Amino acid sequence: MATNKKLNIYFYGGAGKVTGANFMLEDLESDKRFLVDCGLIQGTRASERENYDPFTYDPSKIEALFITHAHLDHIGRIPKLVHDGFTGTIYSTPPTKEISQVSLLDSMNVLAHDATEQNLPTLYDEADVNRAMSQWQTVEYHQPIKIGETTIVLRDTGHILGSAMIEFMINGKKIVFTGDLGNSPAPLLRDTEEVTDATFMVMESVYGDRNHEDRDLRRHNLEDIIEETMRRGGTLMIPAFSVERTQELLFEIENMMENSRIPLVPVFLDSPLAIAVTSVYKKYSNYFNKEATHIRLAGDGIFKFPQLHLTPTAEQSKAILHSPARKIIIAGSGMSNGGRIIHHEKNYLPDAKSNLLLAGYQEVGSLGRQLQEGARLVKIHGEEIPVRAKVVSIQGYSAHKDSDHLLKFVESSADHLKKVFVCMGEPRASLFLTQRIRDYLGVDAMVPSAGQKVEIEV
Ligand SMILES: [Zn+2]
Repeated sequence: MATNKKLNIYFYGGAGKVTGANFMLEDLESDKRFLVDCGLIQGTRASERENYDPFTYDPSKIEALFITHAHLDHIGRIPKLVHDGFTGTIYSTPPTKEISQVSLLDSMNVLAHDATEQNLPTLYDEADVNRAMSQWQTVEYHQPIKIGETTIVLRDTGHILGSAMIEFMINGKKIVFTGDLGNSPAPLLRDTEEVTDATFMVMESVYGDRNHEDRDLRRHNLEDIIEETMRRGGTLMIPAFSVERTQELLFEIENMMENSRIPLVPVFLDSPLAIAVTSVYKKYSNYFNKEATHIRLAGDGIFKFPQLHLTPTAEQSKAILHSPARKIIIAGSGMSNGGRIIHHEKNYLPDAKSNLLLAGYQEVGSLGRQLQEGARLVKIHGEEIPVRAKVVSIQGYSAHKDSDHLLKFVESSADHLKKVFVCMGEPRASLFLTQRIRDYLGVDAMVPSAGQKVEIEV
């Protein structure tokens, strides 16, 4: 065996917080620096301002950037990195590249609007996105990439389409950056791959201190709320996240309709981003799990049923109001922070026959959270809107592993692990998981602070 090698891991982002993932693995001996993810910081206005700060490292000195998955908190600052001098190669799976492209272009306008409001320079423009795409190379899961003495492999995490953990093999040792770990088994995606021989792990901990409710209930709850709304002759509004959640909901609604379990009412997918992402899901349906593949092959395709209406344009979106009341509207944003769902909420929240279904986490301060907490009067576009519609939350649609399953994931490598770095979580969640890893598995673990450098030996 070769002599030991010293490496540095820098926790530039996603340390002590959920968003803004940005890690560096540095091999000083061979003068190589690899980045994992370059995400947007999301949250309060003050923390979001940090997105505009210069990187604390020199982007031109980075060899390669590996992307775990296409959520904005993992990809949102890639165009800025390229703009600031990164000329290396970006690696990800093909779906991650395609979803990233549509997401980056979509969020560009929102970011530009926020920046103007706060007198900040634009974070990036279309040319930066295009440049990033030209540096972006795709690899399939398990297809090794060799850079110098380092071999890199991507493995399925089952979090969203194309999501991957990044494994670096150096000196016969494995350093794994988990990205976000999926809540397997999921309706569409394959289960998270097991890793049995990691030496170091940089892992997510969004649900590090909580366990999910029974996931089998969620389909029943979805079915119930659709049936009830249609029986009353109302409209069901579903604020949805464009990636994964929307496709899962569509898949389940499609199956319920094909099995005559719910009335055959029109379903409007009213989000240009969700429509674009859904077409990437269709294109890469060979990434789906066995069950979803079976259903796809048995029927006439997936995300394709007579009741489904795609409404990409603003005119089509406005016309939804004039179609008969019994209908389902899926629109972004997931927390009703903006997007087209707001317009539908303005129209249908005052209607006692209609329902609003919340199928995801609602951040404190968001309109979604106010509704979830039972507000009877909300402000939309400066107007006071009475809430007579019923607001229902269903659990179980999380795309993240809960505390027990995160622990289980680590356990598979427990015999080899020297240390686990618990990141991408609120401090309380990360600390709780860290303690569990130490106590239950006897594995050394820590919560790195933002910007911290840690030396490891492999
Ligand atoms: Zn994610």
